[in-house]
Amino acid sequence: MNDAIEKANPFEIAQSQFDRATAYLDLKDGIRKMLRQTHRELIVNFPVEMDDLSVEIFTGYRVQHNNARGPTKGGIRYHPDVTLDEVRALAMWMTWKCATVGLPYGGAKGAVVCNPQTMSTRELENLTRRFTTEISLLIGPEDDIPAPDVNTNAQVMAWMMDTYSMHRGNTTPAVVTGKPIEIGGSLGREEATGRGCVVTALEAMKIRGINPEEATGVVQGYGNVGSVAAYLLHDAGARIIAASDIEGGVYNPQGLDPRDLLRHAQETGSVIDYPGTEFVSNAELLALKCDVLIPAALENQITGDNADRVQARIVAEGANGPTTPEADDILAERDIFVIPDILCNAGGVTVSYFEWVQDLQQFFWSEKQINDRLSDIMIDRFATVHHLAREKKVDMRIAAYILAIEQVNRATLIRGIYP
Ligand code: NAD
Repeated sequence: MNDAIEKANPFEIAQSQFDRATAYLDLKDGIRKMLRQTHRELIVNFPVEMDDLSVEIFTGYRVQHNNARGPTKGGIRYHPDVTLDEVRALAMWMTWKCATVGLPYGGAKGAVVCNPQTMSTRELENLTRRFTTEISLLIGPEDDIPAPDVNTNAQVMAWMMDTYSMHRGNTTPAVVTGKPIEIGGSLGREEATGRGCVVTALEAMKIRGINPEEATGVVQGYGNVGSVAAYLLHDAGARIIAASDIEGGVYNPQGLDPRDLLRHAQETGSVIDYPGTEFVSNAELLALKCDVLIPAALENQITGDNADRVQARIVAEGANGPTTPEADDILAERDIFVIPDILCNAGGVTVSYFEWVQDLQQFFWSEKQINDRLSDIMIDRFATVHHLAREKKVDMRIAAYILAIEQVNRATLIRGIYP
């Protein structure tokens, strides 16, 4: 892999991952060209009245990559640095993720360029309601179903659901997932992504002969995904020795209490200054010796520049796109087991699917049913991807891509190219 791709943007990285996998597939050239691109892209510039009565203009995106296997599905990100190419990459990864775990969805993603940390709740509500209105051209329970992502949560989904419902004149819970329980959310959804990460990490530990009771874990990013992964890995017996967020990290080789750390982070706004720990930077944290490293923040964290310093035995990708293709090669050479994002963090969209099914049927399941079904799917798909990786002598990412692209290819061939 050359430097040009390493320094490329997330969408070029997503396309390069796709290209690597298609080398093992017999795709028609037209289908290959189609799947390398996104299908629909909506860019909206819209006004929001701020608390001081000034009007700010925000830019938002909704991108659908592919809908051959069903309605499109994917989260909404609020971030000051988010770009259209990042949203394109995230939409493409959603297509492969849904296919990897066998959900009847295509892939989409949305974002608004904004900094929620500097906005009031009212401003965020206004922004969310106007953005929902702008993208209501595309979204709908049978069309395209958003969910939470970085800096969005159940409350944001509630505003989206309410706004869409107001336009329709009825209540449409199934238009978004990751909602509060009171309005059609699913039990287990908030923990689902972290839970799926830990289920797959435990499977990888079996393969590598690592006893969870003697294992150590390090988590980058202590939001929805990272914090849940940390405490569930801890519940499985492992010692969490470090965790970080955008401000930096905390480290204690004896292990820290992940739930208490979450309380601290919620009270103070960051994991840093947690009693009994020493400060580590995010760069230092990624290089800590541990059994399981869970990157759960943003893209491009493990790159050609630092992959040779990673001392984990397993990398469980809670985040989307945390490892670049060049880093993949280095980690593979060093025999570090990578559970790719499109498998590892697919627990979130899996329980989102359960939520959507429950909303459509108006019939709700117990938390145990949800967690058990989630575990069954994650274990089964992990085994399928691992089997394929061995058979084809490729890494887990390429194996997951082969599996996913083949599903989308078959759906496309069976449906035919319209007209
Ligand atoms: P979140 O907003 O709840 O948390 C993000 C965390 O990352 C925060 O602790 C933040 O401080 C930290 N962070 C941000 N920039 C950082 C940096 N440069 N270095 C270190 N830490 C940084 O977001 P989330 O929902 O937990 O999502 C995290 C990742 O998981 C994203 O890649 C997202 O796409 C992916 N993901 C989320 C879900 C889901 O269900 N929420 C599902 C699948 C994948």
